[in-house]
Parts: sequence; C-alpha cells; structure tokens
Amino acid sequence: MVKVGVLGATGMVGQRFIQLLDNHPDFEIAALAASSRSAGKRYEDATTWYLDTPMPDSVKGMEVIETDPAKMSKDVEIVFSSLPTDFAAKVEPAYAKDFVVASNASAMRMKKDIPLVIPEVNPQFLDMIDAQQKANDWDGFIVTNPNCSTIALTLTLKPIYDNFNINRIYVSTMQAVSGAGYNGVPSMAIVDNLVPYIGGEEEKMESESLYLLGELDGSDVKPANFSLSASCHRVAVVDGHTEAVFIELDEEADIDKIKDKMANFKGLPQELDLYSAPKNPVIVKEEDDRPQPRLDRNASGGMAATVGRVRKDNAFDNSFKYVLVGHNTIRGAAGASILNAELINKQIL
Ligand code: NAP
Repeated sequence: MVKVGVLGATGMVGQRFIQLLDNHPDFEIAALAASSRSAGKRYEDATTWYLDTPMPDSVKGMEVIETDPAKMSKDVEIVFSSLPTDFAAKVEPAYAKDFVVASNASAMRMKKDIPLVIPEVNPQFLDMIDAQQKANDWDGFIVTNPNCSTIALTLTLKPIYDNFNINRIYVSTMQAVSGAGYNGVPSMAIVDNLVPYIGGEEEKMESESLYLLGELDGSDVKPANFSLSASCHRVAVVDGHTEAVFIELDEEADIDKIKDKMANFKGLPQELDLYSAPKNPVIVKEEDDRPQPRLDRNASGGMAATVGRVRKDNAFDNSFKYVLVGHNTIRGAAGASILNAELINKQIL
C-alpha cells in the first residue's frame, strides 16, 4: 500500500478525498492536515462532515496535523492537496522537495514543467516531471488537475478534437454551490437566485482547455488552435456542474458520428484498468431532458461526464450543440487527483 496524506482534509474537497480513498486498493490515508484552527484536534472534532456517506471510522480518531512538510511522516509518498490557492502556492513547492504532490488548487497549474493532466486526455504531459525535478532539485514533484468545469468539458471535447476540425467553441456553465467550498456562497445569495459571475472561472476554462488539448513540444505546450469563449454562472444546485456547449467545425457536423465518437471514447486509464477510471469517460444520453445534475452527477461513481441533447445548431454553419453534466468535487476535484495519482503509481513510482 502507498501511504498518502490529504492537505485541506477538513474542507469540501478534502472530505471527498477521504470518502474516495476509503477502501482504496492501493492507497492508505496516513496523514490529514488542515489549518491551525483544526491542527491538534481529532479529525471528527475538527470537521463538519457534509457528505451523504458516513465519515470513515479509520479517520475519525486521527489527529489533524499542521500544513507543514516538516510535520508530514516520511512514510507518506503522495500528498493530495485541496488547499486554498494562495496558501497552496506557498506550501506545495515545499512539499514537492520530498513528496509527490497531486494538487487540485490552481496555484501551480500551467507553470513551467508542472503537468496539468486529465489522464484520458493528455497523460503524456507527465513527461515534464523529470525536467521539473532537475530544475528544482526536488525528490518529489507536483502534478495538477484542471478546474472542475474544465475537466468535464475537456473530457467531452477530446473525442471531438481527435476526429474533427474545431473552429470555435462557446460554453455557458451552470455551476453548483459546492464548487465554491463550504463557506463559499451564502444561502441568501443563491436561494431563489442565480449569480452570473464566478471570479477567474472563465479565464481558467478558456486557457486550461486549449492547453490540455495542446501538443507537448519538449517542455513547452503548444495550445490547441481554436478559440473558446466561456460564460460562467453559479446556480442553486448542491453538486454537479451543467454546461451548454456550442461548437463550430470546419466541416459539416455529422451528429451520429459525433455521438458515436463520444460514447466510444476511451483513454489510458481505461486501457490500464485504473481503479477510479470510469468504463466510459463520456456517457451519451438520448432522452430529451437529460443530463440533469441530480440524476447524472454520480454516473460511474461521479467519474464520467454525461452528455445529452447532441443536436445541430442552425444559427451557424457546420455547428452543433450539447449539454453536459460532471460532478465537480469528484471528477472535477478529488477524483481527478486520485486518478492522476493512480496513473503515476502505475507508471512512475
Ligand atoms: P474549503 O471547503 O473552503 O476547504 C479548505 C480547506 O483548506 C480546509 O481543510 C481548511 O482547513 C484548509 N485551509 C484553509 N486555510 C488554510 C491555511 N491557511 N493553512 C492550512 N490549511 C488551510 O475549500 P474546497 O472547496 O475544499 O477547495 C479547496 C481547493 O480545491 C481550492 O483551491 C479550490 O479552488 C480547489 N477546487 C475546489 C473544487 C470544488 O468543486 N469545491 C473543484 C476544483 C478545485 P480548516 O478547516 O482548518 O480551516
């Protein structure tokens, strides 16, 4: 068993890590870290558990430690990070001196030699790790996963990008409140309402998606060559981001072929049969009223993106549109880091 630690263990994403790592065949939780508010307490006393499965007995009595690499047992090999971005920027490099850091935070994404990876989309970006270790003289390294709405979108774009020529994409999101963390969106701001702004989200979607579909050239990434415009909105849904996607191709949009390519898409995690890999990363529904967050966010344990309403768009030439749902704290956060770590464990450690 590989011993792992969770940073930000008491938060929304931290709790998902603990839920998903419970009974994992290869990873065993050996350390839980959070802020000084929680350090020194038993995990069950430090945490307001919000998930709908019980807190695992194995973590209840564990002492929460400070988020300091010196306090982390050297038996730990992989550290999962769900820290606030500003703090992650300071401490993740310090952990990487000795540990593999699989991070959810945006702080280190797309920095030189630090792979931003979705294992089904761009596993080859892990080749940056050697250069990262050499440049920083680290024994460990950092690997990051994209923003929650980018992951679901890019999973569905990969089979399209590989089989058609994309000119441009518009995407409009309807994002769950859990995406902002437990204290993120006050109930008075969101009940009976919609907030048409999520700070930094549109920029992340626009840059990360092109980067993930890009080409690795030495240690540089040449982003995919199409334009993408995102408009991001917070809605009164607890978990599960919905996205309306509009795509213009260079050629006529063959809807049956597009659906077939998405439904049959598989990547390296499926080939390697990684524990958290969904059988089909993209599930295509035919019902007129799907996908819906409440009904589809948990598809394949929350690790698949569900697509529906794939249809022609008659407003533009060669265009089509669809709707997708992805679980933001599973495939969009903790599950994404764990899948990255499973791939690293299989291929690198
Ligand atoms: P959250 O619920 O607010 O949890 C934050 C966690 O970080 C808590 O464990 C908190 O510990 C800890 N923390 C806060 N300040 C700290 C400090 N100064 N030192 C050490 N630990 C500190 O946030 P979240 O939603 O889990 O998000 C965590 C990260 O994941 C963020 O970077 C976020 O952008 C990213 N992310 C979130 C999602 C999502 O869907 N929620 C998706 C993708 C990425 P205490 O309990 O002790 O305060």
